[in-house]
Amino acid sequence: MKKWECTICGYIHEGDEPPDECPVCGADKSKFVEIKEEEKPAESSSAQEAEAVEKEPDTSTAASEPAAAATKKKETLSGFDQIKDLLVKHHLHPITVHTPNGILPIAVIMLLLSWVSGNIFLGKAAALNLFFVILALPVVIFTGIVEWKKKYQGAVTGKFKIKIAAASVTAAGSVITLAWYLIDNTVLTSSGAWIFILIACITVLAAGLAGHIGGKLVFKD
Ligand code: FE
Repeated sequence: MKKWECTICGYIHEGDEPPDECPVCGADKSKFVEIKEEEKPAESSSAQEAEAVEKEPDTSTAASEPAAAATKKKETLSGFDQIKDLLVKHHLHPITVHTPNGILPIAVIMLLLSWVSGNIFLGKAAALNLFFVILALPVVIFTGIVEWKKKYQGAVTGKFKIKIAAASVTAAGSVITLAWYLIDNTVLTSSGAWIFILIACITVLAAGLAGHIGGKLVFKD
C-alpha cells in the first residue's frame, strides 16, 4: 500500500492514489507527494560505523555546512520574523484561542438564561464576558494568520476559507452583540430580543466551526 503526504498540512493517506481532496485541510490531489521508503544499504551497522570513523573529517565539514547556512538564514530573518517563528513553534494560536472559545459559549448561555428568566444580572455578566472575548480576539486573529501563512503556506483551500469566514463571523458577532447590549441594555426584554439572541447563537456556532477545523488541522483525523 502506498503512502501519500499532504504538503500543506502533513496528513498521511494510504492507498494506490492520493485522495482528490485532503480531508484535513482541503488541499487538492496535486499537493500530495508519495512517501517512499528510504533504501537502506545492505552493509552491517558496524561496517557503517567504521566507515563513518574513517571519513570523520569530511563528515564534520559536510555537517557544518547546513548548520552554517541555517545560522546565516537566522541572521537574515528580521526580529519580527523571528517572533513570528516563535509564535508558531510554541503554538500561540491554539493556546490563545482557548480564551474566546472557552468564554463565548458561557456568555451565550447566560444571555439565553437572562432572556428566558428576565434576570438582568445574567445579561450584565454575559456582556462582561463578551468584553474579554473581544479583548482576546486581536491576538487570536494575529496568531492565526501567522500560523496559516507559516505552517500551511497561506494555502487558500475550501477548508481555510471556511475557517477564516467562521473566525470573521465570530469576531463580528461578538462586537455586534456587545455593542448592541451597551447601546440598549434592555434589549433582552425588548421585542427584538430574538434577533439579538440569534446573532449570539450564530457567533458561538461560528466559533465552534472554526475550532473544529482547527482541531482537525492539529490532530489530523
Ligand atoms: Fe492537508
